[in-house]
Amino acid sequence: MVQETVVVIVGAGPAGLATAACLNRLNVPNIVLERENCCASLWKKRSYDRLKLHLAKGFCQLPYMSFPSDAPTFIPKSGFIQYLDNYVSTFNVYPLYHWNVEAASFDGVVAKWRVVAKNLFSNEAEEYVAKFLVVATGENSEGFIPKVPGLESFRGEAMHSSQYENGKRFCNKDCLVVGCGNSGMEIAYDLSNSGARTSIVARSPVHVLSKEMVHLGMFLLKFIPCNLVDNIVRMLGKFRYGDLADYGLQRPTKGPFYLKRTTGRSPVIDVGTVDKIKIGDIQVFPSITKFQGDNVEFTNGEIKQLDAIVFATGYKSTARKWLQDGADLFNEDGKPKRGFPDHWKGKNGLYCAGFSRAGLFGISNDAENIAKDIDITLNRNCQVYEC
Ligand SMILES: Cc1cc2nc3c(=O)[nH]c(=O)nc-3n(C[C@H](O)[C@H](O)[C@H](O)COP(=O)(O)OP(=O)(O)OC[C@H]3O[C@@H](n4cnc5c(N)ncnc54)[C@H](O)[C@@H]3O)c2cc1C
Repeated sequence: MVQETVVVIVGAGPAGLATAACLNRLNVPNIVLERENCCASLWKKRSYDRLKLHLAKGFCQLPYMSFPSDAPTFIPKSGFIQYLDNYVSTFNVYPLYHWNVEAASFDGVVAKWRVVAKNLFSNEAEEYVAKFLVVATGENSEGFIPKVPGLESFRGEAMHSSQYENGKRFCNKDCLVVGCGNSGMEIAYDLSNSGARTSIVARSPVHVLSKEMVHLGMFLLKFIPCNLVDNIVRMLGKFRYGDLADYGLQRPTKGPFYLKRTTGRSPVIDVGTVDKIKIGDIQVFPSITKFQGDNVEFTNGEIKQLDAIVFATGYKSTARKWLQDGADLFNEDGKPKRGFPDHWKGKNGLYCAGFSRAGLFGISNDAENIAKDIDITLNRNCQVYEC
């Protein structure tokens, strides 16, 4: 089967949905292909129960639809899912589910993209032909677990943070969270609250700030330079949390907003983990040397027996596994070659949405830019399309 349309969007997460909504508003026909059985699968199936949006709602809304005015400033996962479901119905976005895109290449003869997708239920394959292709498969497409010597000998439960739901079944268990980013710190807090004896590995330096400090910083960035904002929030962070080096958490030398802009690394937004670390409810360890059976050994020589490990060690993009002919836009790791704000557009009608390392705020910008660019290109060709 071959289906022809104007735009194929791969992925029905917030980025794919926002792009489809912006295209629908402009009456540009599009098809959204999604491998899962629902939209926003990361939020519905691959995130822990107590998750809330890390940023205030004003920075997390998708184009043309605000959060309800009575919604809390920091929206819980369930509220965000509800918002996305409303978004889909408001803008008539109908993704095709269970379709895993396995290959996409540019056919120079007809100047169109050929996208091959396989139905994960029936195994049937289908080809989609389109003038434009939008990659919206996410920066978090696949959980990343680093290679650690001896991990295969561990007999307890080892999982990626995307598989963690809550700490109920870990009560009275010895649990280690590897990674002290936002997910790692929050999962450690959740485990400890659930009665697990919890430790966390903090390998890299981190900025720890409160939600309010990040909110203030983002507001100030509109008016004053990044280095001044960094100085202000760093000072507030020090005032609130003190010197965390004594507890095993080092601060980076560069400021939190500078690091976010240049490396994409977010500051940790504290949900109460720091206080638990300070009172000894959560222990902090340096890097892991190796696993041996149920024991883990750290670089400081300490050995600990474990029942479960949660790897909060980040994600990988999988775009280059299926996208051929995208080398001008993506590097081998499936990340954009060019930095913000030139990251979203490649050659021959290829685009990416959701790869700016700027969360939902970046997704909104990408979706609007892509839809406008496609609309301009189509009008230049003097063609009229109807939904
Ligand atoms: C735990 C967590 C919390 C976050 N919290 C925030 C926050 O508070 N604020 C913020 O701004 N950002 C946050 N982010 C970052 C970002 O906003 C989210 O990850 C957001 O869901 C990214 O949207 P996306 O559409 O780009 O990718 P995803 O949500 O990952 O969606 C991509 C979709 O593509 C599908 N897909 C992948 N490969 C294929 C294929 N080959 N064929 C078909 N479909 C495919 C996937 O199934 C998925 O549904 C968070 C991220 C995580 C992991």
